[in-house]
Amino acid sequence: MLRGSPERELAAWWEAEAVAATKAQAAKEQVRVDPGAAGEPERKAGEEQPKEPAPAPPCAAEEGDARIPPRPPPTLPVSLAKPEPASGLYPHGKSRIKGRSCKRSSGQPDEYCSLRPVTVDSSKARTSLDALKISIRQLKWKEFPFGRRLPCDIYWHGVSFHDSDIFSGQVNKFPGMTEMVRKITLSRAVRIMQNLFPEEYNFYPRSWILPDEFQLFVAQVQMVKDGDPSWKPTFIVKPDSGCQGDGIYLIKDPSDIRLSGTLQSRPAVVQEYICKPLLIDKLKFDIRLYVLLKSLEPLEIYIAKDGLSRFCTEPYQEPSPKNLHHIFMHLTNYSLNIHSRNFIHSDSTSTGSKRTFSSILYRLSSKGVDIKKVWSDIISLVIKTVIALTPELKVFYQSDIPAGRPGPTCFQILGFDILLMKNLKPILLEVNANPSMRIEHEQELSPGVFENVPSLVDEEVKVAVIRDTLRLMDPLKKKRESQFQLLGKPLASQENPTHSDLASVSQGNANPDAHLPSICLKQVFPKYAKQFNYLRLVDRMANLFIRFLGIKGTMKLGPTGFRTFIRNCKLSSSSLSMAAVDILYIDITRRWNSMTMDQRDSGMCLQAFVEAFFYLAQRKFKMLPLHEQVASLIDLCEYHLSLLDEKRLVCGRSSTSSGSRLQPSGTPQEAAPAAPPAEGRPQPCTDSTHKVSHSRHTVS
Ligand code: ADP
Repeated sequence: MLRGSPERELAAWWEAEAVAATKAQAAKEQVRVDPGAAGEPERKAGEEQPKEPAPAPPCAAEEGDARIPPRPPPTLPVSLAKPEPASGLYPHGKSRIKGRSCKRSSGQPDEYCSLRPVTVDSSKARTSLDALKISIRQLKWKEFPFGRRLPCDIYWHGVSFHDSDIFSGQVNKFPGMTEMVRKITLSRAVRIMQNLFPEEYNFYPRSWILPDEFQLFVAQVQMVKDGDPSWKPTFIVKPDSGCQGDGIYLIKDPSDIRLSGTLQSRPAVVQEYICKPLLIDKLKFDIRLYVLLKSLEPLEIYIAKDGLSRFCTEPYQEPSPKNLHHIFMHLTNYSLNIHSRNFIHSDSTSTGSKRTFSSILYRLSSKGVDIKKVWSDIISLVIKTVIALTPELKVFYQSDIPAGRPGPTCFQILGFDILLMKNLKPILLEVNANPSMRIEHEQELSPGVFENVPSLVDEEVKVAVIRDTLRLMDPLKKKRESQFQLLGKPLASQENPTHSDLASVSQGNANPDAHLPSICLKQVFPKYAKQFNYLRLVDRMANLFIRFLGIKGTMKLGPTGFRTFIRNCKLSSSSLSMAAVDILYIDITRRWNSMTMDQRDSGMCLQAFVEAFFYLAQRKFKMLPLHEQVASLIDLCEYHLSLLDEKRLVCGRSSTSSGSRLQPSGTPQEAAPAAPPAEGRPQPCTDSTHKVSHSRHTVS
């Protein structure tokens, strides 16, 4: 159960923002509303566009990549087309400075610098290039399509963080995100949260990881069937490395799993299939929502007000042995359904096989559906999913961009795929680290002749998401705003700008956002932090884990680090000897390393640490529910570490004052020490002068 019912607050957001967007959409499109119930047919016979089925495309790193021929670099006027030497980054080994110097070679002072346009390196933007170019043009920023010798403010990558070394500025990818949202890793991360907070995380279908959990899957299904013989489930098997529906199939019984394919060669997730999705025009559809992870620490999440709805192309029927293999009925992937002869390219945002999400909501609301509730449930789902992903992302981050060394800051647009059940409950299908940002689609002009044509729906949604992400990440925003304030009140607020206002526009002095629509990305975190912070237990465990990693750059905890953690947090006792601690470390680490097959470093990964932590918490605080056991142990650890930090600080100060160069070791905790929670019973911090800032009791 959510504390303080975030739904009501979230609904208020929807009322203020998204309903307005839906209404605007309705006015613009004059949506034809079907008077029948949601799910009634609305198709015009003439809308069909016959098309031969084509083989499924191979999987690509960037969603939608596989279908696109490599683009030639954009042509530039001859005078501009001289490419600057390759991607323009500092060579290895040279000293690099984080951040940018604002002094120009001409010696102009700082204020002049703030008027320069923001620079964007788009040389690796791949399929998002078209939408990015439009966005940069709208913002009047400067694009470097071939990279730049000097650092850019923003680097836009189509695929992943690891594309190149960047030492300053901002890059639109987080290290480790691609790994984190793979089907198995996401399922594991959500499962940890489901163990702690089963009700809050029931938006993700029950999943098993193959091949490791095949026996468990068989046993658990059998157990439920024994208890309820009328239960006739369907499962969906998804290869871990697959995308765009590749390799997915439905089964009615665990024995139908294609053992040779799945168990030996392809790790996969098998998941409960949602049999009763909400239908529109008798078709199953899913929602692609764009979410901006603006920052990991502090956590900042934004959600786009509009997204896409992708439709199946064969009327839906509940799964039966006869229709299990009908992909156009069960899988909503655009990349599959585009090959159906029933696929309808949209000529507006509210018709066809791909529509805006706001057009769907508008239609639902006209039938009396409480769309505020739908929207607030979706926001909850997004925040909770990001909370499940961030702990391990932090481990990746400190490994790739260790604190104190030069490196970029990161942000990332994620694609959330969500299914609405018939009862309107949103279900998370997957998270895409590289959502397709293509704004054109292939159309068959005459048999066998294809052409890329602009896609109205994609352009409307995706350009706004990229442009407004850039606006939120604008590194010169503050400077420009303060300069603008010096120049007078915002032009946007003036009904009749004067000649001098217009002159200042032409000189680049005016509010550069005045010509832009309001930002389509709405902050949901930290805005709703109060309601969701109590869920961030694994995040706090990750902070402990990172503190004891020791050598910067590693992602696994060695046996000494684990021992130090136990000792510094005072967790050993007469009933838990250090020998028992060593055995615990070896047992859990060995099992996790054989499961993940990640041989990069040896040692204990974060999930293994979390498992060990759960074990220790259960031993120490026996009588409590799991999340309270864990929260109490975290409180205890944070308390002892803050005492230690304080002691080290005092030692450090006294030795500094006596001329010593001794530094306090370990990550300093911001908080002063609190009273330790009593064993078996968590206690709020009562000492008003000593509060643990991350305490569950202060955030819930
Ligand atoms: P991919 O990365 O290959 O697209 P997804 O997990 O998105 O894999 O699954 C592909 C499609 O299968 C989804 O778009 C959705 O239509 C359908 N699907 C996936 N999981 C489920 C589920 N648990 N219940 C019902 N439909 C599902």
